[in-house]
Amino acid sequence: MRVLLLGGTREARALAELLVADGDHVVTSLAGRVARPRLPVGEVRIGGFGGVDGLTAYLVENAVDAVVDATHPFAERISANAAAACGPASVPLVRLERPGWAEREDAGTWHWVDDHDEAARVAAGLGERPFLTVGRQSLHRFVEPLRDHACVVRVVDPPEIALPGAWTLVQSRGPYTLEHERDAMAGTDVLVTKDSGGTHTEAKLDVAAERGTPVVVVRRAGAPAGVSVVRDAADARAWVRARAAR
Ligand code: NAP
Repeated sequence: MRVLLLGGTREARALAELLVADGDHVVTSLAGRVARPRLPVGEVRIGGFGGVDGLTAYLVENAVDAVVDATHPFAERISANAAAACGPASVPLVRLERPGWAEREDAGTWHWVDDHDEAARVAAGLGERPFLTVGRQSLHRFVEPLRDHACVVRVVDPPEIALPGAWTLVQSRGPYTLEHERDAMAGTDVLVTKDSGGTHTEAKLDVAAERGTPVVVVRRAGAPAGVSVVRDAADARAWVRARAAR
């Protein structure tokens, strides 16, 4: 099988390993946003396709048999593009999306919001020193509502925008332990996060629960309509094997 794996996540790297071991021809595609990405096994291509038309052309030119969209739960544009390109090109598509954190026991106590603007507004009313773990690309939505708050911002790569003088920038990449997060969150009084799910960045939620720190969580938009969803690399591999058997 010639599989295009839209990647940028731990699950995508795990799936690449499984499929390469099965003998599939796997190309993982990365957006190229992270300066030093963790690379998967198999072939890698980096950079956007050029919208739906570019992706459609890629599928045809490379005779792709199946696409697994294993991008981050909040990488919404590429997921929509994959759905729009695969349908007309008759290329089977599955969405690999790890479960979110909504099943956690403490999830009912969090402030769930629909987008980053609402997250910023809610956080502004909950504390003076928010810990922002929303990703570099969303930060601009927080600047105005939280300009006068002493935010601690954690990102993998430095943001392109200027941050307010009262903010502190921390550059680091998970996975994070409980001990690490206890230090990282010292002095902060509200946690802001997306519902990314997974274990690599979950310890911050345990520390918030330990300390009774309020948590603001941006909900996921969910997979595009009509696209089947699997929750882990093993199920995505089974989906590919089922396509191969047809
Ligand atoms: P996005 O808003 O969905 O995508 C924006 C554009 O980036 C897409 O239209 C596409 O350009 C290009 N793109 C995105 N993912 C791509 C991929 N895997 N291969 C080739 N092109 C890709 O995505 P994003 O939020 O900027 O995220 C970019 C990448 O970072 C994703 O692959 C995602 O898995 C990873 N990531 C995102 C987050 C997050 O919170 N958003 C967190 C961790 C990792 P064209 O239209 O030109 O094809």
